[in-house]
Amino acid sequence: MVIVVASGKGGTGKTTVATNLVLNLASHRPVQFLDLDVEEPNAHIFLPPGDWQQIKVGKQIPRVEYDRCTFCGLCAEVCAFNALVVLDDEVLLFPEMCHSCGACIHLCPTAAIFEEEREIGVVEQTEMDNITFHHGKLNVGEVATPEVIAAVKEHLQADGITIMDAPPGTSCSVIESVRGADFCLLVTEPSPLGLSDLKLMVELLELLHLPAGMVINRYQEGLDDVENFAREKGIPVLARIPFDREIAACYSEGRPFVKNLPEYAAVFDDLWNQIEGLVGR
Ligand code: SF4
Ligand code: SF4
Repeated sequence: MVIVVASGKGGTGKTTVATNLVLNLASHRPVQFLDLDVEEPNAHIFLPPGDWQQIKVGKQIPRVEYDRCTFCGLCAEVCAFNALVVLDDEVLLFPEMCHSCGACIHLCPTAAIFEEEREIGVVEQTEMDNITFHHGKLNVGEVATPEVIAAVKEHLQADGITIMDAPPGTSCSVIESVRGADFCLLVTEPSPLGLSDLKLMVELLELLHLPAGMVINRYQEGLDDVENFAREKGIPVLARIPFDREIAACYSEGRPFVKNLPEYAAVFDDLWNQIEGLVGR
């Protein structure tokens, strides 16, 4: 069962919900946890320490052999991503813009272009207390976020329970993150800004035909717009986590609140039971 935890924007408490859900589940059974926010991975801060292993992530980029190149300009013409510029005696490559599509390599009339690997990030993995954890780190200056996310997802286990923490927003990185999930847990807050970004995320899930449930974080009675929207869209609200200074204090100290405020274990037990019921397993 693969559950992706997502939100339309940052700052809703998505990672807090994901890590507390994982930690609570791991007190009963093994769980895999993938942090897919490769631009700013921070789920590990709330997890117990482990021994880390690193796997480099690369992408293929073109390399021009100048003794074969006629500087005809065709490679730059066919590159849909403007990653190549052909000058009189030089072919400039902007590697961050290259999407490794291979068009320039296949269409070069003199077979002057070869592929070489460029490191764009790293996947790190560790095991701790019933949790198998992976996250990705995109190298500074790189923009190939979906590629590093895909590299983390290559470690998706074939069975058991996997929780994935998606990056914030509704960009192509989020689309790559939710791909292949069985269910999306939407984490939102009851503010007008939260609602606006939530609407975009729900539109995306509708396009992808991915079933969803919602957690309202920093819940306050009387702020009903998010609940009304959820009802209108037929998305069940599975948990309401109140605005609680003790949760904020735990967060600021990097402590998971489900381990420090025992009354929330029942909230996450109930949340998981509802998810299992909705996924139908
Ligand atoms: S298409 Fe091939 S020959 Fe033409 S400029 Fe590019 S690398 Fe050189
Ligand atoms: S591999 Fe594709 S994206 Fe990269 S430079 Fe060649 S044509 Fe452009």
